[in-house]
Amino acid sequence: MDYVEIKNYGPAALEQLLVARGEKAFRARQLAQWIYRHGVTDFGSMTDLSLSFRSTLSKHFKVFRFAGYNRQASQDGSCKYYFQTDDGLVLESVSIPDEKKITFCLSTQVGCPLSCRFCLTGARGYIRDLSTAEIVEQYLVMREHEGLDYRRINVVLMGMGEPLLNYEAVSGFLGIALSDYGLGLSSRKITLSTAGYLPGLIRFSREWPTVQLAVSLNGSNNRIRSHIMPINDKFPLEELLDTLRRYQLPRRRTITIEYVLIAGLNDQDLHARELADLLRGLRCKINLIPYNPVPELPYHRPSEDRIERFSLILHHQHYTVMVRRSRGVDIGAACGQLGQRPGLNARQEQKRCVP
Ligand code: SAH
Repeated sequence: MDYVEIKNYGPAALEQLLVARGEKAFRARQLAQWIYRHGVTDFGSMTDLSLSFRSTLSKHFKVFRFAGYNRQASQDGSCKYYFQTDDGLVLESVSIPDEKKITFCLSTQVGCPLSCRFCLTGARGYIRDLSTAEIVEQYLVMREHEGLDYRRINVVLMGMGEPLLNYEAVSGFLGIALSDYGLGLSSRKITLSTAGYLPGLIRFSREWPTVQLAVSLNGSNNRIRSHIMPINDKFPLEELLDTLRRYQLPRRRTITIEYVLIAGLNDQDLHARELADLLRGLRCKINLIPYNPVPELPYHRPSEDRIERFSLILHHQHYTVMVRRSRGVDIGAACGQLGQRPGLNARQEQKRCVP
């Protein structure tokens, strides 16, 4: 018999489902709050639901959980999570605390089809899309462990995969995340990062205009960008920038431009000047990400002097520039390092947690 996987549905869709089964609409809100707000997975503990409704739920509905997961802590306080799926795959997410808040970096696909040359996830290839339930559950498990007030949590869809190539599931996640009966997050605390898949980007801008956008640019001209990001052959810089310039940004919001600095490849003064010209007139801030080395890949991080100089050139041209000091490098949890090893067989110091 087929069960309905509740975590694939936001409060509004749950309401439709339940009403179609002859239940009252407010039941959907109660159920959603138990699942998303309180993280309860057992219908028996949902004490304000009638016994007969609970019995319907256990007959026809399921609450998604991963088959298992591990955590591995970094020296710097960040923590990498390895989640095992029912079909035997492993996906990874990272929690990154700082003084005021904590950021959950979630995956949207197992592997990635975009094959960016410098990225480990890309080098490992694409396996499959994640469901909405699998994206939501990364968040719920991390929230449970970190024991936090949800108002301090930020979410970045910046883990494994290209979120705009798994649009429906990501959209389902955003619906749950932003609903008061769901995760209750504010849209300014959620960032979607894309390599620039334009059909998805155009749809995203129409459907989720208030969710923060980050774009991985990484090259200051088409030659360099196509060399490291094959997606640039399909959607070259002019088209990407044109789309970003037309983007309907809410007041006081900016687009984040991510630029991974790779030694000798895109980190020279002329590249910084090219980048400044390229972005002219765009409401953006620039995040420079010094390359995180990946075993097997022939790329390196520039020297501190070079990073500083690159940043200064942009700064002098009046851009807001941040150098992102990646966290979790020691456990392979930094940008571009996800997908290193199947965690569930990894070393014993990782605690095995079974939900
Ligand atoms: N597909 C999406 C999200 C995943 S990648 C995207 O491309 O934006 C998240 C970020 O990590 C991207 O900005 C990417 O350029 C960066 N990245 C990938 N590999 C990296 C590495 N080895 N070192 C530093 N940043 C890396």
